[in-house]
Amino acid sequence: MISNKELANIIFPDIKETIEDLEKRYPARKLPEGAEVTRFAPSPTGFLHTGSLFTSMICRKVASQTGGIFYIRLEDTDTKREIQGSGEQLLSQLKIFNVIPDEGYLGDHEEGNYGPYIQSKRADLYKVAIKYLIEKGRAYPCFCTPEELDEIRKEQEKNKLNPGYYGEFARCRFLSNDMAKEKIENGEPFVIRFRSNGNHLNKIMVHDLVHGDFEIAQNDQDIVIYKGDGLPTYHFAHCVDDHFMRTTTVIRGEEWISSLPIHVELFEAMGWKAPKYAHLPVIMKIDETTGNKRKLSKRKDNEAAVSYFIEDGYPAEALIMYLMTIANTNFEEWILNNKFEGMQDFTFSFDKMCLDGALFDTGKLNFFAREIIGKMSRKEVIERASAYSKEFKPELYELIKRNPDFFGDIMYIEKDKENPRKDYEKFGDLIERIGFFYEEKYDALLENPLPFNEKATKEDIIEILEALKADLSLEQDEQSWFNNMKEIAVKHGYAGNRGEYKANPEAFKGLVGDVAEILRITLSGRKNSPNLYYVMRILGKKECDRRIDKVISLLK
Ligand code: GLU
Repeated sequence: MISNKELANIIFPDIKETIEDLEKRYPARKLPEGAEVTRFAPSPTGFLHTGSLFTSMICRKVASQTGGIFYIRLEDTDTKREIQGSGEQLLSQLKIFNVIPDEGYLGDHEEGNYGPYIQSKRADLYKVAIKYLIEKGRAYPCFCTPEELDEIRKEQEKNKLNPGYYGEFARCRFLSNDMAKEKIENGEPFVIRFRSNGNHLNKIMVHDLVHGDFEIAQNDQDIVIYKGDGLPTYHFAHCVDDHFMRTTTVIRGEEWISSLPIHVELFEAMGWKAPKYAHLPVIMKIDETTGNKRKLSKRKDNEAAVSYFIEDGYPAEALIMYLMTIANTNFEEWILNNKFEGMQDFTFSFDKMCLDGALFDTGKLNFFAREIIGKMSRKEVIERASAYSKEFKPELYELIKRNPDFFGDIMYIEKDKENPRKDYEKFGDLIERIGFFYEEKYDALLENPLPFNEKATKEDIIEILEALKADLSLEQDEQSWFNNMKEIAVKHGYAGNRGEYKANPEAFKGLVGDVAEILRITLSGRKNSPNLYYVMRILGKKECDRRIDKVISLLK
């Protein structure tokens, strides 16, 4: 009978390199003690999931804070699921969030000595490793057809047995090398399977940096490691790559925990030390219809795709900082104490990870985003809003470009106060929030009825607007301006303060606040606006008067 070695040579006649050769080609990295080598290993299936941004941000952080290396590997062995161009897109989205790899697949090129970093370009490396396993008797060709596999599955279902290709069900495991050779020579299609030595009734102890030590059933499946298309499956590719790319810690989503027994056994069979593992909690949200927690779903939830936050104009650092609050329970307090200055000095730790599926909280993200936009200098707001709108909101871009200073004035209202206002969380809704400052946007608002309080009669509104137009000066400080408005209000039958009004409500048309509201709605078309004094100063007397005249003529 032919030996394993001969069988391996029949299957991979062109593979001359050995594991030792590869060990030499990819030597241990020269890094300081404690330095972690981490990687983000996306599959190019179309979009960057928020959970993947979460993972890659942590990979970046762990490598940075230990003086290690963070690299990117493109896992494109599942050619059926691949979407052309999505690898580049992933990289450009990561860049927006400042998750920049030190080496690896960088979109249009690769950098680093441990490549290629695209799995489909590593086919020969995997073959070296698979050939080695065949020689050792830990892998074998499997010729089972889909029909045969179906038959096995049905039999297992009937007898209520674990599904899969293992033990006695692993038919091809029992083929002699001679029979395998004959089938190969007859041109029968085959895959290569791992020969597991495990038994699912036995437990193994594994260590995870997030979950600690736990027991899990041993692997007993003879999984496919090499597909008919010449490429390996994820499980095997990950093992070869993380070994030869010298990854020290594999950080990935919790959905991979169940594959850990397979990975542990593959590393053992190869005679390699497995990396450390950190399985991160999945990001959840409360389902609006059921009220239950569930995973962020790419079909149902906008928040599942990072592109949503980019397109909506959230400042990228707000999402990253928000994700860090999901990652480490002590981060929120830290960033508040550090006044949202950035998180380089924060030390991430796996022990402070919350285990029970972190909930995505848009309210908190918005709070973070308001803080971040609130902190931006006037120049930065102008630049960032322009860059964003140029790509995603041409209408806003035109407005900013027309007069960047005017836009800066609007965004900077009450920003130089001790407690600056923090009104905006994203650039995507600026048109809606500040569009009224622009004449044509304001005029368009007048096509719909203005939201005046029903209590105010047309006549009263007209009367007070005419008085304000004539007597309210903008050439004074805020307090004097307010007093000025109060005097006008009182003169026209409004109470100057709440006490007076309460004592005798019938005697008044309303309060000075009602006058301010009439003026605000007249000038902005809306009930809420930034501080009216500044709104008026930015608009200028002439434009305020034009708006008052327009509203009066509409009311008449
Ligand atoms: N390609 C795998 C995925 O996209 C990577 C898992 C891992 O990080 O090992 O989920």
